[in-house]
Amino acid sequence: MLVGAHVSASGGINKSFKRGEEIGADCVQIFVSSPRTWSVKEINEDELELYFDEKKRSKLSPTLVHGKYLISLGSPDKKLLQKSSLALSKEFSITNKIGALGLVFHPASHRGVGFKKIKNQFVDAVNQTLLDNKGESLLLLETSAGSGDHIGSNFNELAELINLVDNKRIGICIDTQHLWASGYDISSHKGLEKTFEDFDQIIGIEKLKAIHLNDSKKEFRSFVDRHENIGDGYIGYSGIKNFLSRKEVSNIPIYLEVPGINGGGPDKENIQRVKNLTS
Ligand SMILES: [Zn+2]
Ligand SMILES: [Zn+2]
Repeated sequence: MLVGAHVSASGGINKSFKRGEEIGADCVQIFVSSPRTWSVKEINEDELELYFDEKKRSKLSPTLVHGKYLISLGSPDKKLLQKSSLALSKEFSITNKIGALGLVFHPASHRGVGFKKIKNQFVDAVNQTLLDNKGESLLLLETSAGSGDHIGSNFNELAELINLVDNKRIGICIDTQHLWASGYDISSHKGLEKTFEDFDQIIGIEKLKAIHLNDSKKEFRSFVDRHENIGDGYIGYSGIKNFLSRKEVSNIPIYLEVPGINGGGPDKENIQRVKNLTS
């Protein structure tokens, strides 16, 4: 089982590997541009060379890219939709150039207009992004916690979106905290059985490509996106252990996005906790 984590790429994406190694991660997730501003700086040849040298040396793989938080393909605001499409495409270009597993992004909010009204514009933007960027990388929709008209807090919406995409380079990234918050009980054996049965029937388990493993600061079905350190939240050690014991997740790379024991993000302790639960 590959247990990785989100790490900083400040100072260059090549630095992500050393940061991953320092905390004992098997693979890393990074931002390739600032998640809270619109600009995306293209990657140059020198940066690519540094990145691949470090990747080869560290052997950490596969890298996952997390898209900007600003991306909102379901927004009824056409300007925002346009900016979102452009940013997604630019980030996906970098994702492909660095040979990452994929670019995971939040389906975000439909801002009250309803899922039905925005699903076609959403799919059009995804199709265009895939068309514009050749490569092996996948576009991954992340399961959402479901607050504020957020799209993708249930498997039906995610299935509808990815079934409408005419390219195979599309998949799902499960976030355990978001699933829990949106009402999928991924802590008990019974709840897990039902969750994975539904996932397979509605989306298809082959579409599961990555996992964000996080405990939850909020109770079940809170619809609030608040991550907690592994074992310290409402999902808890036994819940996380049950989740990790499922055959459906055994070959899927895992990335932690926990706050960290000292608040500095995913750390050695959290990775060790996961490894203890799976050994
Ligand atoms: Zn995310
Ligand atoms: Zn989250």
